[in-house]
Amino acid sequence: MKTVRLVTLGCAKNQVDSEEIAGVLRERGYTLDPLSERVDAVIINTCGFLQTAKWEGAREIRKALTRKARGTIKHVVVAGCLSQREGSKMAEAFPKADAMIGVGQMARFGEILDRVFAGERVIEIGKPSHLWADVPTRARSDAPWSAYLKISEGCDHQCSFCTIPSFRGPHQSKPIERLMSEARFLAASGAREINLIAQDVTQYGYDIYGKFTLPELLGKLNEIEGVDWIRMLYFYPNRLTDELIETMCGSAKVLPYIDIPLQHAHPEILRKMKRPWDGERYLRLFERLRKAMPECAIRTTFIVGFPGETDEHFECLLQFMREAKLDRVGAFSYSCEAGTPAAEMRDQVAVSVKRERYHRLMSEQQAISLELNRKWIGRRLDVLLESEDDGQMIGRSFRDAPEIDGVVFVDGMDLPGEMIEVEITGAEEYDLRAKPVGRRARTAPKSQTLRMAVTN
Ligand code: SF4
Repeated sequence: MKTVRLVTLGCAKNQVDSEEIAGVLRERGYTLDPLSERVDAVIINTCGFLQTAKWEGAREIRKALTRKARGTIKHVVVAGCLSQREGSKMAEAFPKADAMIGVGQMARFGEILDRVFAGERVIEIGKPSHLWADVPTRARSDAPWSAYLKISEGCDHQCSFCTIPSFRGPHQSKPIERLMSEARFLAASGAREINLIAQDVTQYGYDIYGKFTLPELLGKLNEIEGVDWIRMLYFYPNRLTDELIETMCGSAKVLPYIDIPLQHAHPEILRKMKRPWDGERYLRLFERLRKAMPECAIRTTFIVGFPGETDEHFECLLQFMREAKLDRVGAFSYSCEAGTPAAEMRDQVAVSVKRERYHRLMSEQQAISLELNRKWIGRRLDVLLESEDDGQMIGRSFRDAPEIDGVVFVDGMDLPGEMIEVEITGAEEYDLRAKPVGRRARTAPKSQTLRMAVTN
């Protein structure tokens, strides 16, 4: 029985790919060993999004090759975004790596590993394509109560700073029937929360059905027994249509949580980024969202120090943030990525300025999120419990996506995976404190009413 360890770098989309690869290998008779350093093969599923991710990938490959040289690992397989992005350069840079595989080859990993064990060096980096594994083979690696469901691959937008379309390819949706069977499989494996992920969830379905089909998909997912929460990560600003907002309001399980990366608010910077709209229109969108879902949590990300960003542009972004009062904000210092149009722009911003703007933006946002969090004191929320720490439970409410947002600390002990009702007793910049007040019944599959996820 050959043992394999899978190392996953990068985002949740890569995690889903790794779970599919693990499932395919298990079906093929390989034994997955997530912990042992002494295995027959290591597969490194890399991220290639930013320079820092490339360094991390290279570090992980070097570490595995050192172990191969010492004889504790027999084969090293490199897969995913970095091998797709760097192609043959990577194969040359790491001549002792046994395989270099591009993105999306999940269903083929049994055959690929067989060839590696037969002594072949497998280099397969063609155009990005996506061969999904059969649904029931996915070997889940995260907590059973929360799962990611990738609804599409790739991206059709052309943001001038972004490398993703170059190695993940154009947008490609999974058919609704497949997604329904994946979601039922996840529910059967214990998932109470399903997080729909894609580079742009709002584009879902266009390539297959000739129209944006996210509302239909949500309507169907809302009917799946056993699932309580459906969350979506990431919306594209100009595709949050009235139909989509109405569907969110009318679907009891779809959380009023909007993760909408805006990247900037100043129209000049947004045009250079090849992104839609401007701060004014974003504010009007938030008004629409808050009118339809008064308690909705809005999350965004901004890039600071994009080429040509002046003090005035940055001040405009801060002013926008103060007006928008968003629940969650993440920020990145602009990273100059080879092969993107933004990397060719002449007016690059100094690293020290980017760093200073990043810290300023984050500290302004801390004050805003503390103010918003304090408004929850004395109110009730449903919380999905996930872990325990020092005599208290740690969970998440509808306002907290896994891994990227804050948490709710709840007094007392309970079982991870339980959903309980709590009363908020304290607030910090990112997290809330609470005491339990009751157990939460399963969400009914149907709801025709406009609902709010909270009670006063
Ligand atoms: S929408 Fe996101 S993934 Fe697509 S090009 Fe823009 S930043 Fe990249």
